[in-house]
Amino acid sequence: MTQYRYPNSDETLTQIFNYMNALFNEKEFSKTIILLTEMGKALVHSDRASFFFWDKNSHEVWTIAALNTGKITVPEDKGLIGASILNNEVIITNDPYNDPRFNPEVDKSTGYKTKSILTMPVTNAEGKVIGAFQAINKLDRDGNAIDFNEDDAKRTSLASAFCGRSLESYLLYNEALQDQLTGLKNRRGLHSFYENNIAPLLSAKDCSIIMCDIDHFKRVNDTWGHNAGDAILKHVANIFKASIGIDDGVFRWGGEEFIFLMNGESLNEAHDFAEEVRKKIEDSVCHFEGLDLKVTMSFGVSQLSAELTTEENVKIADERLYYAKEHGRNRVISVLPE
Ligand code: GH3
Ligand code: MG
Ligand code: MG
Repeated sequence: MTQYRYPNSDETLTQIFNYMNALFNEKEFSKTIILLTEMGKALVHSDRASFFFWDKNSHEVWTIAALNTGKITVPEDKGLIGASILNNEVIITNDPYNDPRFNPEVDKSTGYKTKSILTMPVTNAEGKVIGAFQAINKLDRDGNAIDFNEDDAKRTSLASAFCGRSLESYLLYNEALQDQLTGLKNRRGLHSFYENNIAPLLSAKDCSIIMCDIDHFKRVNDTWGHNAGDAILKHVANIFKASIGIDDGVFRWGGEEFIFLMNGESLNEAHDFAEEVRKKIEDSVCHFEGLDLKVTMSFGVSQLSAELTTEENVKIADERLYYAKEHGRNRVISVLPE
């Protein structure tokens, strides 16, 4: 087999600096990961490269970035990826079809022929495995598949280390915007969504805010206990998640208060939406430890103003919510009487 001649040191350095320059200017996580995966692919001169995220909740590993191939999802204990992440081990295989760890299913379904694979675990700052980088079919100058070797592993570690740190900071950032109990975004998440997705649109289109609060929630806790209260919070959050559109956001503002930010919806449209959600909550039952729990919610709706700060906009919806509470609860208020 002919050996692929690496670019000389100057060429390699130039390649790395070009990628670093592009990375320096890239703010978006998904594009950063693609650039890093491209860098890994270029440095080992492989036909394909993918960066896998290990989702420990679903026990799956899936591609965040995949070059020259579609999205791949595999169980965490399958194939070379599984072996690499579970044992925190770099694996080089130049005869995959005779390696019992190799999973030929992807090749079977795509018709691709894997000849050599390099799989490297990706770790966070504590050294815990959070994903894997994989290069497939190292090529010589003529495009023929040749073997990976230890030098390729060294080169890959540059991309893999950067992928690990980028993924970790992305995960930590998202965790900080997330409410653990309900899985909704929290107040920080709202501010971020407002700045990035809502504020830039306000001069061009109608956007609205809905603030809502569970009625007599203290009684739920007092009667059925705090865990029952938590179950209700998750229950209403699931109804919210299933109700909102792809461009809208729903957030846990605090305790049993939630906010919807409605992208491109006028006051009347947001009112109708709030009314639908109010009805869904009223008609639903939360099953918890043999109990059938029911709650209602009150809603305040207002159209967002580009002239006001986020807090000032929230305050208007809050005043309408307060009015709904004062006037019987389990209702939607979008206009205060004169
Ligand atoms: P209103 O109809 O006027 O909104 O009455 P309320 O009882 O819902 O309102 P209040 O503000 O008096 O009580 C809210 C309660 O929500 C008090 C607090 O203990 C409870 N709460 C806040 N966060 C959580 C939580 O995460 N879990 C549980 N179980 N309860 C919570
Ligand atoms: Mg309440
Ligand atoms: Mg409240």
